[in-house]
Amino acid sequence: MVAPPAAARTVLDAIGETPLLQIDGIWVKLEYLNPSGSIKARIAKYMVERAEAEGLLRPGDTIVEASSGNTGNALSMVAAVKGYRMLVVMPDGMSPERTAISRAFGAEVMTVGDFHVNDALAKARELGEQPGWWAPQQFESEWNVEENRTWLGPEVLRQLPDGIVPDAVLGGIGTGGTIVGVGQCFRELDPDCLVAAVEPDESCTILCGEIGRHLIEGISDGFVPGIFARHGHVVDELYAVESDEAVAEMRRLASEHGLLVGPSSGAHLVAARRLRERHPERRNIVTFLCDEGEKYLTDYFL
Ligand code: PMP
Repeated sequence: MVAPPAAARTVLDAIGETPLLQIDGIWVKLEYLNPSGSIKARIAKYMVERAEAEGLLRPGDTIVEASSGNTGNALSMVAAVKGYRMLVVMPDGMSPERTAISRAFGAEVMTVGDFHVNDALAKARELGEQPGWWAPQQFESEWNVEENRTWLGPEVLRQLPDGIVPDAVLGGIGTGGTIVGVGQCFRELDPDCLVAAVEPDESCTILCGEIGRHLIEGISDGFVPGIFARHGHVVDELYAVESDEAVAEMRRLASEHGLLVGPSSGAHLVAARRLRERHPERRNIVTFLCDEGEKYLTDYFL
């Protein structure tokens, strides 16, 4: 992405170029450092700007999206900067900070359904059909995959030391956009790159057909997302991590490494270590720390 001149910059130009570093020998991309606190800042900006370019979104329009939190927060930030109205449709039971963050960005928040995002999705789709409204539909959108293939993936490749090519990548499945898009990108460089995903053990929807309550907010929203239904063949292996393991690892990342992140980041690291145990020959495993921990303070740290 080419940065605009300083006088024309907004916070949206601070999205991306997050640090890549090694934790316990695994490459981790600090996506929680994006404005609005998550990896989702990228698709929010990308999808909105694509919709503007295609004439689907015009000044004064309303953006409506179903989200368990991070995409809602990120779209609310983008809408604030660009002057759109924003309505986030959220399932009940998400951490209170998530609602507060969207509201702080001037968005309206509507709660529909319980814990999983299904009912909220139906509501957002229905509202999005009204004239002057646009629903990005992150779980379905090819723009989500495209962003990860053309922006996040190449950014990681550029940041790795010269001569290092990832031989495995692991991501959680919320929409599946990250792991599918980044997986496609890495495979263009090395067709043998292993692409793996992590699900909560209590709700391993793709691995074992189960939908259950779990603590790993942001992944396993209660259904197989359209993106995964279309592109799931990109993923070679699935790992199931228990909520408690993910939370314990989240705590360790903060207390031992100074990384204040959410439970999904813990799940990513636990699963990446398992991947390494199963495939010791794979030396350059890449994974993501997806959201920041401040929004989990009341749940886990107070
Ligand atoms: N972790 C967290 C905390 C998230 O919010 C998300 C996105 N919902 C993911 C992981 C998974 O990302 P994706 O939607 O690209 O599968």
